[in-house]
Amino acid sequence: MACSTAALCASGAPGRPPPGVIRVCQLHQSPGCRRRPMIRTHARYSFGFAVATAIMLLVGLSILLATRQIRADNRWITHSREVIEHLARVRAELLEGIAAQRSYLLTGDRSFRVQHDNVRPAIRQDLATLTALTMDAPQAASIRELAALIELRLDTTSEVIRLYESNGLPAVQERLRSADLRTLMARIEQLQLQIQNEQQTLLLQRIAVSRRNTGVVLALATLGIPLSLSIVWAIYALLRREVRQRKAAQARADTLNHELAQSVARLEQAGNDLADLGHYVSLLLGCQDLGEALDVTRYTLLKLLPGAAGAVYLLSPSQDHAELAIGWGQAPAEARGLMMPSDCWALRRAQPHFVDNLHGETACQHFEPPPHDAHIASACLPLSAQAVSLGVLVLFADGPGPIPRIEIAAAVAEQLSLALGNLRLQEKLRLQSIRDALSGLYNRRYLEESLPRELARCQRREKPLALLMLDLDHFKVFNDTHGHTGGDTLIAAFGRLLLAHCRPEDIACRYGGEEFTLILPEVDEDTALQRAEEIRTAAMRMTITFDNRSLAGTSLSIGLAMYPHHAHDSAGLERLADAALYQAKRNGRNRIEVAATV
Ligand code: GH3
Ligand code: MG
Ligand code: MG
Repeated sequence: MACSTAALCASGAPGRPPPGVIRVCQLHQSPGCRRRPMIRTHARYSFGFAVATAIMLLVGLSILLATRQIRADNRWITHSREVIEHLARVRAELLEGIAAQRSYLLTGDRSFRVQHDNVRPAIRQDLATLTALTMDAPQAASIRELAALIELRLDTTSEVIRLYESNGLPAVQERLRSADLRTLMARIEQLQLQIQNEQQTLLLQRIAVSRRNTGVVLALATLGIPLSLSIVWAIYALLRREVRQRKAAQARADTLNHELAQSVARLEQAGNDLADLGHYVSLLLGCQDLGEALDVTRYTLLKLLPGAAGAVYLLSPSQDHAELAIGWGQAPAEARGLMMPSDCWALRRAQPHFVDNLHGETACQHFEPPPHDAHIASACLPLSAQAVSLGVLVLFADGPGPIPRIEIAAAVAEQLSLALGNLRLQEKLRLQSIRDALSGLYNRRYLEESLPRELARCQRREKPLALLMLDLDHFKVFNDTHGHTGGDTLIAAFGRLLLAHCRPEDIACRYGGEEFTLILPEVDEDTALQRAEEIRTAAMRMTITFDNRSLAGTSLSIGLAMYPHHAHDSAGLERLADAALYQAKRNGRNRIEVAATV
């Protein structure tokens, strides 16, 4: 049925939609959709109805005309019969009059005379009727002649009766036997017979015509009415079929429309998901650390899968355990804070792992055992980048599983994996850029970065800050004695010592060569001096093993500058701490000097 059933039109017909746009055509409603067959069908039906109507009209008209003709024929038949009848009556009355005359002549009974006299008006009456009936007929002249002859014959009988009454019977016998009387009577008989035969012939002709016309009417009625009725029935049947087909087409169109609406809804959902995923990816790209990336993931999955709770476990660098980094949603089961990689099937197999029921045999072990009657489904999606396992994204929801729209979570896991990989790489590069490999301390670049920041923080909090500059004494000699490798060993050992004497908020840097810097935020001068002394004495006590030899007694000089006592900016602090260190060197080394107030 194509478009007649409402379908997707992507035709090349005029008014076709732009590429990518789907047009839905209702049944025979869209101008672009198969109008021509519809028009042809209507034209066919209209033509059929017109033919049927024409036949009906023709048949009706023919029957009407034929009926009128039959009625006319019948009138003429009746007319002929009346003529014949009156002719016969005239003949009978004439014979009756003659017979009454003879009886009167023979018997002298006057009742026969009366009978004879009565016949004459009756004959005249019938003759007048006959004349009237045949007035326009070809026989009018014959009728007039017959009437005249009969009048003549009746005049003769009246004359004979008068002769009989005046002269008696013998007087009239001669007259009765006269030849002209017999001739007159023969002529009347002949004329009557002629008229009767002619009328008979006419009657037969009219009956034949009437029968023919009746036959025509019958034929018309027998053929025309069933024919037109058949056409009407055929059209009716076609229309019924068309209506049925339309109903079926409408039903198919409704189904198609319904399916289309569902597809559109799915497409819309997919479009929204894609938009959310795109937004998620752009947010991930902007994340500066792992915590931000996990927060964005939590927010995104809460939006995309509102019915599911979730968590992200991150593997330790050694890959021997994974820690719960973040969790969200109304968790139907509780995720453990720590797990071994062997606790999770997804981490073991590096493949997504779906469980319809956490009570099942293949459930992972990183959930607290759920209540017995709880039916919980879970999905573990491994996170990995560049073939390195990073952790697992876990989702769980009220069962039975599988968790709906889990494929969108898989897409999120894929993006999160990439982001985690990138962030780890960035972190590694950043550490590489701010760390000194030999001492394990921050480098000078990081010092330049962090000193103004820490200073600003202490300024905001109105707290002091101490800056220590430390320099190993006579390191050149040590280098010369134990070689460059020996000098490196001492630098590395002193770096570890310095780190061991740092609080988490302190920042220890290798300034360059055998010089070091220590930032002590929120530390006053006395405490700073005390911490410097601790470091100095610890260095003196420190022994390093190098080349199977134990070396001890590392001495160092330290210069101290205080914010806000000595300087208010980082450059001033650095300069004054360096000056104090120089002073310590000049004062004999292995000592601590405090910057002078400038
Ligand atoms: P002072 O007591 O005055 O500080 O004298 P010093 O010898 O410690 O200082 P000086 O500036 O004269 O010499 C520092 C030496 O440290 C020079 C250089 O070769 C050495 N040095 C610098 N960086 C490194 C390093 O990374 N490894 C080793 N092994 N030696 C280094
Ligand atoms: Mg030195
Ligand atoms: Mg030096």
